[in-house]
Amino acid sequence: MSTAAEWIARGNKHIAKTYGRYPLVPVRGEGCRLWDADGKAYLDFLAGVAVNNLGHCHPKVVAALQQQAATLIHCSNFYNIPQQIELAEILCANSFGDRVFFCNSGAEANEAALKLARKYSKEKHGDNRFEVITALASFHGRTIGGISATGQEKVRHGFEPVVPGFSYVPFGDIQALKTAISPATCAVMLEPVQGEGGVNVPPAGYLAQVRELCDAHNLLLIFDEVQVGCGRTGTLFAYQAEGVEPDIMTLAKALAGGPPIGAMVAREEIAESFGPGTHGSTFGGNPLMAAAGVAAMKVLLEDGILDNCLAMGDHLRDRLKELQSRYPFIVAVRGRGLILGMELSIEGAPIVNKALERGLLLNCTVGKVLRFVPPLTVNNAEIDEMIEILDGILAEVG
Ligand SMILES: *Cc1c(COP(=O)(O)O)cnc(C)c1O
Repeated sequence: MSTAAEWIARGNKHIAKTYGRYPLVPVRGEGCRLWDADGKAYLDFLAGVAVNNLGHCHPKVVAALQQQAATLIHCSNFYNIPQQIELAEILCANSFGDRVFFCNSGAEANEAALKLARKYSKEKHGDNRFEVITALASFHGRTIGGISATGQEKVRHGFEPVVPGFSYVPFGDIQALKTAISPATCAVMLEPVQGEGGVNVPPAGYLAQVRELCDAHNLLLIFDEVQVGCGRTGTLFAYQAEGVEPDIMTLAKALAGGPPIGAMVAREEIAESFGPGTHGSTFGGNPLMAAAGVAAMKVLLEDGILDNCLAMGDHLRDRLKELQSRYPFIVAVRGRGLILGMELSIEGAPIVNKALERGLLLNCTVGKVLRFVPPLTVNNAEIDEMIEILDGILAEVG
């Protein structure tokens, strides 16, 4: 086994340079902790970017993977896959949805949603209905379709021309959305709470107004819940806190408690437009990932995870606000459940680097927003431990 430094040197030779990687080589995880190749422990408040909602290597997810891996890993979507059927049943029984298309990632789930929205709208309203309105500061993935939908210039830069038919409006501004609707509009796609864009919670009532606007203009409403779905905000899906149902929802990140999977959930009438041959994925919903998904969803629904998320979300928010009262460069603390953002008037990167040195994994979005997305299984002591480390760092940088 190589040391951390040796792995980093080897990686620098042959791994694509798409990430600004921290000098960390995690090799083992359990609950809210990771250990690196040199044996050093880290408290993980990034959780694989909101993927490890049940903590690292949750025993029930591990058992499901081990059992399924020894039984059947992959067949083909030409056949019927019991684990996939079970996962679809769980998702539909617990959401607005009637049908699920499985894929392998968030970007793919959004591709499926965008293709379905276009197909349904063209069939229902004619060939000229294909445009999708999304929000500025949104994030919808790194495929060409995903970056086309993403309302951030820096994500599209260098890859133009992007897919035509997207426009962007300020998140939370209902008037701007109203103005952006044209006869060519077929759908509105939003994150109920923006993750990558800086943990932005829309004003109360905004999503309900968006729903009304979509109904008035016969537009589909797509919620990208890739980051905030699967319990992250304290309800199983983020839309449930607002009582506003979308027509299509996309999921990925935490859906299988760690392993890669994506899903697009749609209402029956709309899902009808995806007939045989219209869309597909070789790996999507394979027995191995779907078995993990079933296990992870059952834990989420049956093991008190949502209650813990709400309670720990309150505790974390209180402790972050306490820091805000002591450090004037903390501009705001916001979020919902266990996706919380701390907006700073100073750069966040030096704080994240110091945290790493002190055994704490944090993340910073849009330069100045520290994002806290620990496993939903986090406890009071772990939150207090994180706050103590962060407090020490803030005292130094302030
Ligand atoms: C992470 C993310 C995606 C992209 O998911 P991938 O699995 O990386 O393709 C899309 N939308 C949102 C809101 C995300 O947070």
